[in-house]
Amino acid sequence: RATMKILVSACLLGENCKYSGGNNYNQAVCDFARGHQVVPVCPEVLGGLPTPRPPAERQPDGRVVTREGGDVTAEYRAGAEKALELARAHGCTLAVLKERSPSCGRGQIYDGTFSHTLIPGSGVAAQLLETQGIPVYGESRLDELIGQLSAEG
Ligand code: SF4
Repeated sequence: RATMKILVSACLLGENCKYSGGNNYNQAVCDFARGHQVVPVCPEVLGGLPTPRPPAERQPDGRVVTREGGDVTAEYRAGAEKALELARAHGCTLAVLKERSPSCGRGQIYDGTFSHTLIPGSGVAAQLLETQGIPVYGESRLDELIGQLSAEG
């Protein structure tokens, strides 16, 4: 099958860049990534945030705020822009990003109240990538993606 260049959330590959200091290692993502050229990114780290860092959620107005009330929108935006720059510089045609993250989540994110309530919406980086023409798949949609790619040959 054809090798593609794919932007991937670094935490899915096992990098300890998650807000808690851990990772979101995903065996299926790693297996899939092995056949392609992968560009690992963590938009929150690219935006200058430390690890570990306070958990943050998007607010209804689009800002990103930590549980303690700190506005980190600028860092999230900067990280999203850097992820997009990297995707373009490497010619990535799609992205596999961690679901529900205020940066990487696509289609569903937490509602901003820190109560584990999901609402429709996307993280800052996922949203930017998609509006710039780079489709984003969450880890639970990997089978769907692999099916589409094999149908395309
Ligand atoms: Fe993973 Fe994305 Fe969060 Fe970084 S910003 S830890 S890559 S979900």
